[in-house]
Amino acid sequence: MQNEYEIKKEMCEIGKRVYNRGMVAANDGNFSVKLNDNEFLCTPTGVSKGFMTPEYICKVDAEGNVLQANKGFRPSSEIKMHMRVYKERPDVNAVVHAHPLYATTFAICGIPLTQPIMPEAVIALGCVPIAKYGTPSTMEIPDAVSEHLQYFDAVLLENHGALAYSDSLLNAYHKMESVEFYARLLYQSKMLGEPQEFNKEQMDKLYEIRRKMGLSGKHPANVCPNAKAGKPSCHSCGGACSQSAPEATADADLVASITKKVMDQLGL
Ligand SMILES: [Zn+2]
Repeated sequence: MQNEYEIKKEMCEIGKRVYNRGMVAANDGNFSVKLNDNEFLCTPTGVSKGFMTPEYICKVDAEGNVLQANKGFRPSSEIKMHMRVYKERPDVNAVVHAHPLYATTFAICGIPLTQPIMPEAVIALGCVPIAKYGTPSTMEIPDAVSEHLQYFDAVLLENHGALAYSDSLLNAYHKMESVEFYARLLYQSKMLGEPQEFNKEQMDKLYEIRRKMGLSGKHPANVCPNAKAGKPSCHSCGGACSQSAPEATADADLVASITKKVMDQLGL
């Protein structure tokens, strides 16, 4: 398990990758890591994320209030967006926000990343919707993002950029890389001709691969077993997908075994 200082160092390393890959310009972008339910580390506002050292990193509580920040550093102005993700997705331990060129281009044109065109994008991302535009640093962005949190692990922010979140900082960053690579592929294939999409059979096989890999998160592959029986899938049953489905099964098994014991004792 990493200690707090090691996490800060990792945040600086991820900052370098985000900056060096051109996912942000100048001082843009921000990311955060959950330490526990009331302590979160976040990048400061007004500095280039490519040149941070551990003492740049700030600590906030679940409301985004500063718990610790060295002189001259303040938490990101977008911290409310991060806090909304942690609040509504307890499985998330890290959030990354950036402005990658191609993903942001799609966000500006109002085109979500939904065409299934390559195996890795289907397996890693599923679909990436667009959260409607909100003024930076207001509650408009957290509110817009909130609509998609139960169904997706990455969203485009209309006329702004992209947001990715996962169970670790590295995974959240990789998700952002995948979003950008997918957007770039989609853009270039549209330039060259009409991208060929996978059919349903091919999609089902890719979803099966994701399930076998045991990847967590909200993804079309993680629909509850009801979907296969023609009942509402996770996208229409309030997000009760992979996390709740096995529990539901476990509960049903428990009820069945208790019922059997009671019946046995009653001699029925
Ligand atoms: Zn931004």
